[in-house]
Amino acid sequence: MTKLVLLGGGHAHLFVLEAFARQRPDADIRLITPEALTPYSGMLPGVLAGHYRARQACIDLRPLADRAACLLTLDSAVGLDAARRRITLTGGEVIDYDLLSMDTGSTPRRPDVPGAAEHAHAVKPIAGLLARCADAVPRAIAVLGAGAAGVEVAMALHHRWPAARCTLVERGTAPLEGLGARLQRSVGAELAHQQIDVVTGAEITRIDADAIGLDDGRTIASDFTVLATGAAAPAWLRDSGLALDARGFIEVGATLQSTSHPEVLAAGDVATLSASPRPKSGVYAVRAGPPLATNIARMLAGQPPLDWHAQRHALMLLACGRRHAIAARGGWVLKGDWVWRWKDAIDRGFVRRFDPRADIAADMG
Ligand SMILES: Cc1cc2nc3c(=O)[nH]c(=O)nc-3n(C[C@H](O)[C@H](O)[C@H](O)COP(=O)(O)OP(=O)(O)OC[C@H]3O[C@@H](n4cnc5c(N)ncnc54)[C@H](O)[C@@H]3O)c2cc1C
Repeated sequence: MTKLVLLGGGHAHLFVLEAFARQRPDADIRLITPEALTPYSGMLPGVLAGHYRARQACIDLRPLADRAACLLTLDSAVGLDAARRRITLTGGEVIDYDLLSMDTGSTPRRPDVPGAAEHAHAVKPIAGLLARCADAVPRAIAVLGAGAAGVEVAMALHHRWPAARCTLVERGTAPLEGLGARLQRSVGAELAHQQIDVVTGAEITRIDADAIGLDDGRTIASDFTVLATGAAAPAWLRDSGLALDARGFIEVGATLQSTSHPEVLAAGDVATLSASPRPKSGVYAVRAGPPLATNIARMLAGQPPLDWHAQRHALMLLACGRRHAIAARGGWVLKGDWVWRWKDAIDRGFVRRFDPRADIAADMG
């Protein structure tokens, strides 16, 4: 029987498991991922802000895998040999595959400056950041990187610790650079309203336990520094033999197949659509889920996979710490408490779709 391995319990694979529960393909299916509970990215800022418990923002992969008659292995890949079709896990176990689908996400990019490893917390894995938050009572927070995740995290932490001074540090010219002038204005106004300091055009030169240093000589007080400096590719892909883009992510064509190894498919942050790259965001990982499920099923049935055309514009919903949010798509921008309620309904609906027991499990502690 064909050995199908689903590597990573990310957003796209949720749709694959759901589809296989409805119609089980004739294959020996195994999901390999380190944790049974996979976080849903849209709700992470709400967890940091204290609006949700962590469990409410997680999907339990065990019942999903059961329904798809898929063997669940809780482990991580540390190596991939695409020529031999082999995956190596942390304990040294080697798993062979005939068909491999990868949805392992990205890893936080850590700036190469003194103190980054010791004194800065990465946004991912979120469980690690939450554990740091649990014991902390910071006097000053700094969030490094003012992309969508950095902006949301800064506002969420400011809401969590209103007495702490909060600074958002960006090496570019403004928060959310490249995401449209109207959205930037709206976010800029919200950050100003919340009295979050924004420092732009500055490179970090060092991170200490109670401050960060910038290349213009300034020092910013921070005893809780968070890195939101962007998504990097997992290092273990480098020697895989798969075709990678310039940043080390797996290059895939419109069918989501690797451009070098057609028996490998990839979706979400770990993949780059070679003809039409899209931002590394959960929205695109979610969008890729149904076409990924279709193409795996077709390939298992001996049919050719179909092309997927990722939409150019996606709805962006930014949580603003308090129960307030900003929505943007193409050129338009909306904001308000009602936008937060809309986002909350979308996010809870997403989790409920894959894990109807998430709220109950959270209540049970
Ligand atoms: C604070 C924050 C807020 C965000 N908010 C939003 C938002 O509102 N909207 C949005 O669109 N995006 C948001 N993002 C971005 C979003 O989190 C990612 O783009 C999204 O999670 C990517 O989905 P994915 O399926 O590619 O990977 P992930 O969701 O990261 O899932 C990867 C899975 O693979 C597993 N895995 C990892 N490595 C291995 C390995 N070696 N072997 C096996 N399994 C592995 C992981 O445990 C995980 O289960 C946010 C990110 C952060 C950090």
